[in-house]
Amino acid sequence: MMAQYIEIKTANPDCLLFYRMGDFYELFFEDAEIASRALGITLTKRGKHLGEDIPMCGVPIHAAEDYLLRLIRLGHRVAVCEQTEDPAEAKKRGSKSVVRREVVRLVTPGTLTEDNLLEAKRHNYLVALARVKASGDAAIAWLDISTGDFAVSPVTADTLPAELARLDPGEVVAADALLADDRFAEVLRANRWPVTPLPASRFDSAGAERRLKDHFGVAALDAFGAFSRAEISACGALLDYVELTQVGQIPALRPPRRQGADHAMLIDAATRANLELVRTLSGERRGSLLSVIDRTITGAGGRLLAERLSAPLTDPDAINARLDAVGFFLELGALRSDVRDMLKACPDVSRALSRLSLGRGGPRDLAAIGAGLAAAADLAALLRSDTGLVSVPGEIRALLDTLGRNDGTLAGALREALADELPVNTRDGGFVRKGYRPELDEQRSLRDESRKVIAGLQGKYAEATGVRALKVRHNNVLGFFVEVTAQHGDKLRATPHDETFIHRQTLANAVRFTTTELAELESRIAMAGDRALALELQVFDTLVGEVHAHTEMIAAVAGALASLDVAAALAELAETERYVRPRVDGSRAFRIEKGRHPVVEQALRQAQEGEFVPNDCTLSADGGDGEGAEDAGGGRHIWLVTGPNMAGKSTFLRQNALIAVLAQMGSHVPAASAHIGVIDRLFSRVGAADDLARGRSTFMVEMVETATILNQAGERSLVILDEIGRGTATFDGLSIAWAAVEHLHEVNRCRALFATHFHELTALSDRLDRLANVTMTVREWQGEVVFLHEVGPGAADRSYGIQVAKLAGLPPAVIERAGEVLHALEQGEQTAARRELVDDLPLFSAARPQSAGPAASSPGKLEAALGEVLPDELTPREALDLVYRLKALA
Ligand code: ADP
Repeated sequence: MMAQYIEIKTANPDCLLFYRMGDFYELFFEDAEIASRALGITLTKRGKHLGEDIPMCGVPIHAAEDYLLRLIRLGHRVAVCEQTEDPAEAKKRGSKSVVRREVVRLVTPGTLTEDNLLEAKRHNYLVALARVKASGDAAIAWLDISTGDFAVSPVTADTLPAELARLDPGEVVAADALLADDRFAEVLRANRWPVTPLPASRFDSAGAERRLKDHFGVAALDAFGAFSRAEISACGALLDYVELTQVGQIPALRPPRRQGADHAMLIDAATRANLELVRTLSGERRGSLLSVIDRTITGAGGRLLAERLSAPLTDPDAINARLDAVGFFLELGALRSDVRDMLKACPDVSRALSRLSLGRGGPRDLAAIGAGLAAAADLAALLRSDTGLVSVPGEIRALLDTLGRNDGTLAGALREALADELPVNTRDGGFVRKGYRPELDEQRSLRDESRKVIAGLQGKYAEATGVRALKVRHNNVLGFFVEVTAQHGDKLRATPHDETFIHRQTLANAVRFTTTELAELESRIAMAGDRALALELQVFDTLVGEVHAHTEMIAAVAGALASLDVAAALAELAETERYVRPRVDGSRAFRIEKGRHPVVEQALRQAQEGEFVPNDCTLSADGGDGEGAEDAGGGRHIWLVTGPNMAGKSTFLRQNALIAVLAQMGSHVPAASAHIGVIDRLFSRVGAADDLARGRSTFMVEMVETATILNQAGERSLVILDEIGRGTATFDGLSIAWAAVEHLHEVNRCRALFATHFHELTALSDRLDRLANVTMTVREWQGEVVFLHEVGPGAADRSYGIQVAKLAGLPPAVIERAGEVLHALEQGEQTAARRELVDDLPLFSAARPQSAGPAASSPGKLEAALGEVLPDELTPREALDLVYRLKALA
């Protein structure tokens, strides 16, 4: 057995091997050590290998999924090795023969299909990255094996981070040659997605083309789109990897959809993270934009919504088609609520379909498809009957057509065949409805009759022997047997019963017998049971065959249900949250009236902290719609936003970006009105986080992100810049911010919101005619600052930093002293004032403890070095170097 184990393990070196033994998966050697640590299960020993104990641990079959999930989450891959023959067969080959075992599946993070291992409302994408070196073309293909969703798009090293961030893959496969290319490797390394390197041969585009044609049964791939070599290579590699991990089984894949590079608004990884589109900066779904807009009912609807939010469209027609569908459900509120009620009865059809195609499905998956199709038919009928009077938008009509492909036969067949209560596993039997197959009912009643006869035998034997406490029982070793207490044992042994009762076992207080009658009945039950199960399995296979034959229809109907769910959910959202339909077109307008931040608005309401204050924003770049003249910013396409901390600058910046994202994904938006000329790329630089893992300081991260924006933003981009130049010395920061504004205005010419602390920047508006100054209004009241959260024209006159610090709870002595310092600085010329302050500074220096310890050893040099330091002139980097220098002097 160990020889067999080692052979299989050697063939799967990068996986933990789950080796099936009876009712357990066992792990040996290093695998056992890893798994026992990761899962907190006991490590034991079994036998010896090369004179050493073999470490072993095991997980029971029935709990294996949970353990698998935990291992996958920890980044492991698992090879599941099953017994692929009956142990009796192996015995026939000789008493020492080992049962044949084979790896039936590799479980990797990107190839999960079990509901337990997946989140209902999240896609789990397996992504392949391919590049054709000769042409330099690269492509990214993605596939959700649990739903069959399959697509591909061209990519470059520049757009890769944004594409990956959009897909947020469960696993990325790439050729090792590509991983040797720094530009690509860097992007993959920088993120948390598990990467599986594959030999370059698996990405060969000629092989890939053949594989795709074979799989989809077509002579040429042109029918699916005009694919580049890199795209074919990426798709083929995905298919190949699925075959490899599923060991030959392939799920019901839809042919790959080709998406052009510009199909969606490009949003880079930092912007996505900062705007907290589908998860917050701390990684949770709660608190993200997705979580506050998600009103979908079904898992598939939830996945589609997340997909749309991650990839807002850029084609105004497509966006308006989606908006029409939302409008339709907004208008027909009663219909909407009926539709949503019906969707509740809708199971996850795509995932059930995928499991069935992989041979991993059970009766419940069949039932899910039946119930889904039945709900689809009801929905179609409802939509048809209720929409006689209004004009039905094209999007809804198309969905109706798709639903119409389901003629109800398959659902009917499934309903007819399947019982009401279903077991999880096919092999448990009992899932075929009574009356569906007469032969099956016959076997079942034969089995049940025999059981009844056996139950009757107990009375008969009791009477014949005069032992009233006689029982007929069953266990796996003896089968059916007669049991009496020890004291009655002899009665049954004595004639005339010795012919009838055959002694089998004597226990401490019981004696057990069998009879020929029982044995015969038992084998009848067993035979009937086996026949019944065989018949059920036949029915199962036939039904699965039926499902296979309709894969495409089922997948399309499932897709239509998800789209209906999303349209109705967005209408529900628009109504309950008072969102309006945005006007989206090809202009370069950006005009939001009374816009709100969708997440902050809901958070304020939940915490009962007052109403959100709505604000306008007009950044129309081409004069837009000519409506902007009277706005705060007067139709200028860059707004410089000043105002103290906590006044609401970031909220304002983000809300406008979020409104654009919502509008282009085809949702209504939180505003009184909105007009947006499509944005092709969204950039943001907000907040600051150290990227210590990559050895970048806050300031460096900030500059890298700013550089990306200034290098890449174009006329159709929307740019949100929050406080750039903050992480360095004042004059450096101001100069960088100054030059960045000029660059945005003169070179990028994009629509932009620029929040800043540097009030000096507001002078730029005299020179830059498309730049407007706006400020967050605040009031001072009895020495306290009151934030009105209103955006008004002009520039902030003061920072109110000290008041905010006071709100934050800085000690009163510090606040008072800061007030004095500020006053002095504001009074005089700065350098002179600083001198004065330093001369007059006994306050904190008096409190400092006398220096002692190692520093005292060379006080002269240290002091001299310190004397030369001008803290205000230091960058953080220089400050750090200084600390090292000082330390060395000590
Ligand atoms: P800043 O970027 O100017 O420091 P923030 O945008 O972080 O300020 O806002 C600070 C807090 O003020 C937010 O957490 C929010 O609770 C509140 N706030 C911001 N804008 C508004 C608004 N328009 N209406 C109501 N409250 C707001």
